[in-house]
Amino acid sequence: MQATQVSFSNTEIAFKRFSNSDLRKAEWLFRSFNYPWLVRNGPSMASFAVSLGMKSLIKNTIFHHFCGGEHIGACSETIDQLYQFGVGTILDYSVEGEEEESVFEETCREIIRTIERAAGNEKIPFSVFKTTGIARFALLEKIQTGAALSADEQSEWEAVRSRFSRICRSASEHKVRIFVDAEESWIQDPIDQLTMEMMHLFNRERAIVYNTIQLYRHDRLEFLKKTISGTPCYLGFKLVRGAYMEKERARAGQMGYRDPIQPDKAAADRDYNEALKTCLEHIDRVSVCAGTHNEDSSRYLMQLMEEHHISPQDERVYFSQLLGMSDHISFNLANAGYRVAKYVPYGPVKAVLPYLGRRAQENSAMAGQMGRELAMIRAERQRRSRG
Ligand SMILES: Cc1cc2nc3c(=O)[nH]c(=O)nc-3n(C[C@H](O)[C@H](O)[C@H](O)COP(=O)(O)OP(=O)(O)OC[C@H]3O[C@@H](n4cnc5c(N)ncnc54)[C@H](O)[C@@H]3O)c2cc1C
Repeated sequence: MQATQVSFSNTEIAFKRFSNSDLRKAEWLFRSFNYPWLVRNGPSMASFAVSLGMKSLIKNTIFHHFCGGEHIGACSETIDQLYQFGVGTILDYSVEGEEEESVFEETCREIIRTIERAAGNEKIPFSVFKTTGIARFALLEKIQTGAALSADEQSEWEAVRSRFSRICRSASEHKVRIFVDAEESWIQDPIDQLTMEMMHLFNRERAIVYNTIQLYRHDRLEFLKKTISGTPCYLGFKLVRGAYMEKERARAGQMGYRDPIQPDKAAADRDYNEALKTCLEHIDRVSVCAGTHNEDSSRYLMQLMEEHHISPQDERVYFSQLLGMSDHISFNLANAGYRVAKYVPYGPVKAVLPYLGRRAQENSAMAGQMGRELAMIRAERQRRSRG
């Protein structure tokens, strides 16, 4: 199928995996995101509900929509269901918060378990991790400033490097590609450095370790181009716009340095598409994953693939969205034969509440208007009721 023939408005394909009852629940959920007070107070109310023993209320509603389960084993149903429609899974251990060595070690072991689960399994084409899941934020921040580390901090940093390298080595040994997520700009330099080291070590025959590039930063297209021209090994990039815009702008304003974010959304969109183009121009050495819910960028990537005579089934080009969002993109692309994988977050209900809060916030952004997800779900319900 040609890029121009893929329709993102086919809700029948988009929601095939949902029963009528699932759709009804999803409509109810996305409608609830239109109440700002609920979205604002949701995470603390949910946390309170869980501590009162009402975990199943959360588990059967918002958790069920956006997460695969409380542990890897519980995600099997979601993994199989997505795969039935040609969509892969990226198991994302989404526990956030505690910053202790023992927790970092346990998170490292858990990430390695996701790699082992993905090994030799075409239903799970990638693994993923966040560096702040295995490293203290303030330590990364200090390293980025270039300040001298104390002896204790030096050994803490060695432990971080060891965890980072154990994860990437395991990915390499199991032949599982792994994304390193991008985070705040004031801790991103050490993350980039560690990721580049791992790329040099493990991307010898193909891209195993992927760095993430945030194109809402005005300096990242240049960084991407320099990395490609200055690095002889295979490279993998997940391209995203970026998730921390307000935080980035607020910090730059408070501390009086130049805002790292693009002047406007159009500039972020332009650099995003230019980054896709740059990657495809170097496809002999560069693999790319478009981590986006943006229809235009997804369509542009399909066009670029056509121009470069890259088959939709080529392993070097992936599209990726989050579970429970933009199914109209994921499932229509997969139906047309493109490579697609969804992030499937998992973890104990209480521990993933911050993640769920962010999804609620994201989907309530268009106050007063019907959000895109809700409009799609309603369109499909109406289509089904027409018979
Ligand atoms: C599979 C996947 C993996 C992801 N991994 C990461 C990750 O590792 N790190 C990370 O930071 N994020 C990550 N994200 C989130 C991503 O960065 C975006 O926040 C989110 O996907 C929304 O952007 P979009 O491209 O989908 O769509 P759009 O709706 O087109 O774009 C919204 C985004 O545009 C940018 N933007 C909005 N207004 C402006 C403005 N005025 N000026 C400049 N930029 C603006 C912001 O980044 C905003 O999030 C991931 C998303 C997906 C789907």
